[in-house]
Amino acid sequence: EGKSTHSQTDVLIIGAGPSGLMAAYWMARCGVNARIIDNRDTKVFLGHADGLRARTLELFDSMGFQHRVLEEGSISTEANIWVPGPQGKLVRQAQIDIFRVDESPFHNTRLNQGRIERFILDSIREHSDLDVERSVMADSLEYDEELGNDPNSYPITVKVRVLGEDDLNRPSGQEIDAESEAAGNEVSRSNLLPDDWADLAPRNKPRKTQVETIKAKYLIGCDGAHSWTRKQLNIPVEGSNTDHIWGVIDVIPLSDFPDIRRVSVVNNAAGTILVIPRERGLVRFYVPVQTCEAGTTDRFDRSKITPDLIRERVQAILAPFTFDFKECSWWTVYQVGQRIATQSTKDNRIFLAGDAVHTHSPKMGLGMNMSMQDGFNVGWKIALAVAGTLKPEILDTYASERHPLAEMLLDFDRHWSPMFTDRKPEVADTKASDMALVAGKFEDFADGWKVFYPASSLVRKAEDDAEFAFARHMIPGERVRPVKLRNQADGGTRWTTRTLESDGRFRILVLAGDIRNPMQKQRIETLSQVLAGQTGSGISPLSRYWEIPGRFKSPVDVLTIHTSPWKEVEFFDFPEILRPFDPVNGWAYDKIWCDDACMFDRYCDGTAYEKWGVDRVLGALVVVRPDQYIGWVGELGDVEELTQYLDGILVKKSPTDEVAAVL
Ligand code: FAD
Repeated sequence: EGKSTHSQTDVLIIGAGPSGLMAAYWMARCGVNARIIDNRDTKVFLGHADGLRARTLELFDSMGFQHRVLEEGSISTEANIWVPGPQGKLVRQAQIDIFRVDESPFHNTRLNQGRIERFILDSIREHSDLDVERSVMADSLEYDEELGNDPNSYPITVKVRVLGEDDLNRPSGQEIDAESEAAGNEVSRSNLLPDDWADLAPRNKPRKTQVETIKAKYLIGCDGAHSWTRKQLNIPVEGSNTDHIWGVIDVIPLSDFPDIRRVSVVNNAAGTILVIPRERGLVRFYVPVQTCEAGTTDRFDRSKITPDLIRERVQAILAPFTFDFKECSWWTVYQVGQRIATQSTKDNRIFLAGDAVHTHSPKMGLGMNMSMQDGFNVGWKIALAVAGTLKPEILDTYASERHPLAEMLLDFDRHWSPMFTDRKPEVADTKASDMALVAGKFEDFADGWKVFYPASSLVRKAEDDAEFAFARHMIPGERVRPVKLRNQADGGTRWTTRTLESDGRFRILVLAGDIRNPMQKQRIETLSQVLAGQTGSGISPLSRYWEIPGRFKSPVDVLTIHTSPWKEVEFFDFPEILRPFDPVNGWAYDKIWCDDACMFDRYCDGTAYEKWGVDRVLGALVVVRPDQYIGWVGELGDVEELTQYLDGILVKKSPTDEVAAVL
């Protein structure tokens, strides 16, 4: 072996799949000293996960790149069910809408995982020089529990191997038990977009494998279903492999099946397939290819399964419609496993995220979404804790918020999976109605519109229903329902998913109501004086907390949204603290927004306050967490309670603030 080196970093992320990259995004955004390693030589390019739920796209909007997904991806708004009709010929039995008007600006979209990784990688690069270190394999982990209580200590020691040309033990492609990449998925310039070309060739490797010892304050194990990190911590997984083995192919179909470009489940005596239209003319087929002895966990002989065999199965199930292909972009075989790790953290210093915590069937298109949302949740918390901005005990909320969702995810999968594997056509009728029922029950959860984050220091729930009557649909622990608003300064419109940018800051939403009303105007003046530190203790919640070093002087930002008609008020009618002046950048024109109908944009229809359940005259006060979930709701006069909420989360600049805290 080559030379051995020692180094230290604040955060080490193992695995640069969807969950690891989301966590890395926050490190880049908040300027945290971090490293991200992956044992693969290159990123993913083709195939793998492809389904993006609406909520994930909302998060992408807050990160600044959802437009790239919309440009390249394929949107699905309905699911079709095909079964044998009276004459035995396949008929379309049901067409189920899988969109909801007004719930989100986005819909379920298909685009391969490699492109998603591209967009997150580009975003990381835009904000920092953090880069994935590829061909680097974590090899041993030590954790010193005694150091765990000191947030400035480095209790974690990971030895990594920087794989050299000589290394014979490097992983062959993918190391996932539920699915492993088949040979023959050739990646070349011709089947990639140009912005992926540079990643095609593995970077220069050392001739000899080198060993590096990395000391870290925090470790995030985003290392997939076979999680190495989880094994080092001896965290057990519960659940098992199921007995179904599926083939997956991404092809350009040559077929007269009418729904070939629509999401469909086709179910007849020959079996069940799932048809998923994709970007660039591709269609993905999920095909059951083999059933093992029920209850056994025997690995199957994957060498027997080939694209030709999958083609024949699709032909048999789609008959009498025709099916063939010349172009196959990617294919794989996998055995479904429904498993969950019993824990997702060790002492709030080491965390597991994504497939490392939960695996399940990929047919509902949730694994990548859930994994990215795990990485997103843990990422901002660790980034701000390392920055010294967030109290480390808040890290408890990663497990309390995400672990119950992992359990729901498996529950969801257990409900859905049998519907795709039961072969008897006579139960098809029940299936269609069951599907609608299950879809209804889990829709909010699956699409991510509801996350059920429980009460904690981060989520201040109401003690009784009447408490938040002034903002009925702004529910702590849930997302801000997206609405389109009009900018007061320039009149342009924008979705809140973009305005509430994921930049690491908490955001106070001043829902100012109608400031043409003199009493309301006075309330806003009073609130602004407190926010400016001119009354009360003189310590403003905007200048009270530790900065995000190198990024923002305050981890708290303010956004004002009012209901006065756009033409009847002026930007300068609002107190200066709500639209601050910067000697270089001038007035903050992006801080004042209006909930008024707009002639040129029908999505900006002046119904934001109704959607949020807020009185159009009296308004409300809301705190949104850095990850776009609602943390606290109050009335415009409740700045003291708001400050108490933030005091429970953020580190104050000076200890003397503790004494002077009573506003
Ligand atoms: P992974 O993507 O598995 O990434 C883990 C990374 O860690 C890998 O790059 C690995 O090389 C690296 N690693 C592992 N061990 C080490 C080590 N010791 N040192 C260094 N690096 C290491 N999900 C959806 O949401 N929608 C879908 O439509 C969908 N379809 C799917 C279709 C198929 C055919 C398959 C197979 C999966 C599908 N999924 C889908 C699931 C989705 O792919 C996963 O849930 C997702 O990739 C998990 O992301 P992750 O970052 O947690 O793990």
